[in-house]
Amino acid sequence: MTKAETLQKELLYTKKNGYLNINEKEKKEIFSFCEGYKTFLDTCKTERECVMFAIQKAEQNGFVDLKTKQKLKPGDKIYTVNRNKSILIAVMGEKPVTEGTKIVAAHIDSPRLDLKQNPLFESNEIAYFKTHYYGGIKKYQWTAIPLALHGTIIKQNGEVVTLSIGEKEGDPVFNISDLLPHLAASQMKGDATKIIEGEKLNVILGSIPFQDEKLTDAVKLNILKLLNEEFGITEKDFVSAEIEMVPAFGAKDVGLDRSLIGAYGQDDRVCAYTALQAILGAEPAQETNICYLVDKEEVGSMDSTGMCSRFFEDVLAELCEKTMDTYNDIALRKALNQSTCLSSDVTAALDPNFDHVMEKNNSAYLNKGVCLMKYTGARGKSGTSDCSCEFVHHVTSTLDKAGVVWQTGELGKVDEGGGGTVAQYLAVLNIHVIDCGVPLLSMHSPFEISAKFDVYQAYKGYVAFYK
Ligand code: MN
Ligand code: MN
Repeated sequence: MTKAETLQKELLYTKKNGYLNINEKEKKEIFSFCEGYKTFLDTCKTERECVMFAIQKAEQNGFVDLKTKQKLKPGDKIYTVNRNKSILIAVMGEKPVTEGTKIVAAHIDSPRLDLKQNPLFESNEIAYFKTHYYGGIKKYQWTAIPLALHGTIIKQNGEVVTLSIGEKEGDPVFNISDLLPHLAASQMKGDATKIIEGEKLNVILGSIPFQDEKLTDAVKLNILKLLNEEFGITEKDFVSAEIEMVPAFGAKDVGLDRSLIGAYGQDDRVCAYTALQAILGAEPAQETNICYLVDKEEVGSMDSTGMCSRFFEDVLAELCEKTMDTYNDIALRKALNQSTCLSSDVTAALDPNFDHVMEKNNSAYLNKGVCLMKYTGARGKSGTSDCSCEFVHHVTSTLDKAGVVWQTGELGKVDEGGGGTVAQYLAVLNIHVIDCGVPLLSMHSPFEISAKFDVYQAYKGYVAFYK
């Protein structure tokens, strides 16, 4: 080794592709972990489905509903659900909750098309659902692909109907049509935000009329008849319903080497799944470990089931109360300000097709591990919690000690755009928090891409954080 090479080895910080440092056995481990992840993606396409899945797995692993416990002791494993849309799972630690908890927070809502409250209409003898898009999407990406319908309808008599159409083999799917290129000359000259307008995101439901020549909207009536026969619902039941249209295809390996996963909803179910797996396997530790899977991140977290909800503080207060002789408010305040959190959300991986929006020294890359982001935000770090160097150092040394491959990255060049996560809402509770998640290609598209290597490093990272 020349003197320069020795110096380079000693002084430079470079990140290599993770596959250069692992053996065949480790690669197998990564790939087999991701089979479970792909099943999760296929089973859980809405926040409600994620919560159902998490309850089932938690119970199978010995966790019980917090409601059933009068008192809590170290080693107890509990979960608690908020309005069927968010769930908090915890393993009680040896130390009092007032000395702080360790939280991994991920969101389980993803961009999609929600049905409006009066969704049904007919035009030129085709019946449609009107939708209102949820989260930041490129609207044109949602046309000409198969869509599935997932949701909850509560009938007039109070009976709850859970719907999932378009996922099973043989199910019909739904679709939003796009204009043929032959007639799209003027459409194609338009602004990409307008080439498919929000009010054109209408989902095709059917085309057979109810047999009565005098009727108007006979196709719509026929669809309502089918819905009534199958599920016992009427048009009025849609007013209170929550129905989400999501891509109808399942998770797939991408690439000849199968190193990547393509699927809908990986933002942020990739962090939700890895965090869930980490808490399910967590042994009781010094601190109480918490996995919080939360709703409404994609629309700003402002909802009773989003990160801004007091639900999180309520549960922490309950954990204090159930572990103390006499509860007081300062106990909760201490529990919050002594806690640490990984805000586990995805980031953008450098896409060679669009590398002009990234600053190469400070972007995340596929296969270089779980990505830490000291801050997010836009412009002059607007709307971010800028993690302290002390906590960045604490997390990077924890990951290093556990042999977790990690990288750091920013979401794009300065002033190119930006984004935020739930981190800021944990930071205002005076919790130490840093963003820590998996880099994706095609984020917020119907088919997002993650790298299996990074998915596994996120899991290992959360396991190490909980130790
Ligand atoms: Mn996200
Ligand atoms: Mn997102």
